[in-house]
Amino acid sequence: KHKLLEVKNLKKYFHLEKGKTLKAVDDVSFDIYKGETFGLVGESGCGKSTTGRTIISLYNRTDGEVRYDGKNVHTLTEKEKLSFYRNVQMIFQDPYASLNPRSTVREIIAEPMEAHGLYTDKKERLERIYQLLEDVGLNRDHANRYPHEFSGGQRQRIGIARALALNPDFIIADEPISALDVSVQAQVVNLMKKLQKEKGLTYLFIAHDLSMVKHISDRIGVMYLGHLVELTESNELYKKPLHPYTQALLSAIPIPDPDVEDTRERMILKGEIPSPMNPPSGCVFRTRCPFAMEACATKKPQWQEVEEKHFVACHLYDKSIMGDQNHHEIAV
Ligand code: SF4
Ligand code: MG
Repeated sequence: KHKLLEVKNLKKYFHLEKGKTLKAVDDVSFDIYKGETFGLVGESGCGKSTTGRTIISLYNRTDGEVRYDGKNVHTLTEKEKLSFYRNVQMIFQDPYASLNPRSTVREIIAEPMEAHGLYTDKKERLERIYQLLEDVGLNRDHANRYPHEFSGGQRQRIGIARALALNPDFIIADEPISALDVSVQAQVVNLMKKLQKEKGLTYLFIAHDLSMVKHISDRIGVMYLGHLVELTESNELYKKPLHPYTQALLSAIPIPDPDVEDTRERMILKGEIPSPMNPPSGCVFRTRCPFAMEACATKKPQWQEVEEKHFVACHLYDKSIMGDQNHHEIAV
């Protein structure tokens, strides 16, 4: 499998007034393989959007490394930069805020083409715009309309068409469905899956809960307070969540079938997410973790591959702390 994106020990700190530091992303590492969808999940403020934005260099990294297609993105030549910004595109949470209200759909989709000097022939460009509209389930009659004339779901389709304008390989979708009605969310997810198949796209799909990501992600990483706490294949994560935070996130999702009685015990987390300016010592999750032990306050849990392709950072799975007690069996 080809690693399209490699994120290594990435840190993004924001230095605020009075010498305060907000550690939005603190030592995060993961790879994304070509053609897969990698879901990045966590509550708001956990650093998932900042991770996405730092990958695409909207923010300068504080430390660590991002490699795209084998190349360090922080040391690209001008020519390589152009190609990087053509190949990596973003879709945003709020399509309305990210679409210029005074531009027609046609102008919105043409904008990246103009910026990169591509499809300069007028007729060819228009044909391309019509094709993109069709690809996302709209049609050429929509080309001369304005964003406010569309529903939320249609606007996200326009955002997707714009992201596809330059024929990218990799798309960072930052909560692309969070602002949409539940009934529309599945449609947009299905569209993204269809486009992925047709165009061989790779996705980083950012979401704040685990309810829809499972339908699109091959692997999922769970973030809490700037840290990656668990990472594994999608099915495995739902079947056997290891980190207490993942278990809590999963127990919060209702069972979709109304005929099935939901007998699971809810795992309610105590307290609020601490401020990332003042994260807890040891394990960042410990102030809310029902299993917190002494070691959790003093030792930062190591990132370990506990089972094949299943990574977690939690002392419950650390033999040097737990001895031979087997805490893998904790069920949600
Ligand atoms: Fe909970 Fe400790 Fe594991 Fe952190 S390391 S998740 S506090 S048990
Ligand atoms: Mg966000």
